[in-house]
Amino acid sequence: MNQNVIRHAFGALILFLGTANQGLGQSPSIDPALPKQIAAIPAIDNHAHPLLSPPANATDRSFDAPPVDTMAPYTDPAGMRPNLPALHDAWLDLFHFNGEPPLDDAGLKQLEAAREATRREQGEAYATYILDRANIGTELANRVAMGTGVQPPRFRWVPYVDALLFPLDNSALAAANPDRKQFFPLEDKLRAQYLQQANLKSLPPTLDLYLKQLVTPILEQQKANGAVAEKFEVAYLRSFGFDDVPQAEAARIYAALLHQPHPNEAQYKRLQDFLFRYIAQECGRLGMPVHLHTISGGGGYFSIAGANPLLLEPLFNDPRLRKTNFVLLHGGWPFIHEIGALLQKPNVYLDLSQQSLMISPRTMSQWLREWLELYPEKVLYGTDAYPYSSAMGWEEAAYIANQNIRQSLGIALTGMLRDGEITPTRAAELARMVLRGNAESLYHF
Ligand SMILES: [Zn+2]
Repeated sequence: MNQNVIRHAFGALILFLGTANQGLGQSPSIDPALPKQIAAIPAIDNHAHPLLSPPANATDRSFDAPPVDTMAPYTDPAGMRPNLPALHDAWLDLFHFNGEPPLDDAGLKQLEAAREATRREQGEAYATYILDRANIGTELANRVAMGTGVQPPRFRWVPYVDALLFPLDNSALAAANPDRKQFFPLEDKLRAQYLQQANLKSLPPTLDLYLKQLVTPILEQQKANGAVAEKFEVAYLRSFGFDDVPQAEAARIYAALLHQPHPNEAQYKRLQDFLFRYIAQECGRLGMPVHLHTISGGGGYFSIAGANPLLLEPLFNDPRLRKTNFVLLHGGWPFIHEIGALLQKPNVYLDLSQQSLMISPRTMSQWLREWLELYPEKVLYGTDAYPYSSAMGWEEAAYIANQNIRQSLGIALTGMLRDGEITPTRAAELARMVLRGNAESLYHF
């Protein structure tokens, strides 16, 4: 659900893509030695939602925990409106389809036919074919489940855990706004699926049993089934202000409010706060970093103030959570400086996903440079490839985000070189770190 913001349109990259697609070397903003070095490094994509390969693709709805197709009307960022010129090159390279965006209905039909022909040609290898074209070596697949063609070693699994944070009646939370009205029933559905996977018929009567019979077993199962991290989309569902709640208090709340319609909201929040820390601590024990959606949007009801990453600082400063690594997905815009400062915590990272589609490479290069000057080993490549629209599937999104990141990296490193901050050798090193080295260290790939 986190990317519906990009559902219809994409335009902002216009400024820079012209040069991106002609090759990095032609841009005066980029040192002539860099493009070749940057292009030679296959990336590790920290965050994406690839669709399954044929024949499973036709019915695949597991690419997001709540794959919500419609959100209430909101204002698209200028960079996400139709006519994105970069789509042309993506279509041509991926599907041999030569069309000028925006496509009319007939054009979209032709594009889908070209995609389908490529799917047929590639079969189960379709998803890895897309990675090859997008210069991505390994992609972390944020999905409810893996499946045909989306398998290790090229794809690594990142499941969702928000459903375990909200075990009580969620109807009051869902009533807050039209978007949450769609999200919460889907979280309830996923929690029901987790109950089944843990061989439970209903929620256990005590918090202790809830943790021992559901939460921990699900995390352990996911780890055993190949999960390399756990993803929270919690920014869509509530604020990042997680208090430190004693287990005894959370247990009293759980026992008192379980199966109660419309539980007291303040008490329910205390229970969620406890559960978040518990899950994060378990992820640390199991060696799975915690992924958190941190960027403004999507949707017109998204609480931007509630998703300020500084609200997470007490978690990062909790000594019990120092064995848990946190990756702040999407780079936190508009809290660019705040998120950069949080990288000084030894267990905090960020990635470039989604912003690599929303923000132009020139603009992103400014804060990328800031982060690289401060904590270069904490910045990860990421696309957030997702089936956004009929014009931009996860395939085009991966392709375009990849181009944008490499462009942005080229501009940032060139600035540092020209200002005498780094040597050419260090520039090449930094490129490798962002594109894959930092992820290799974090996930022990
Ligand atoms: Zn995503």
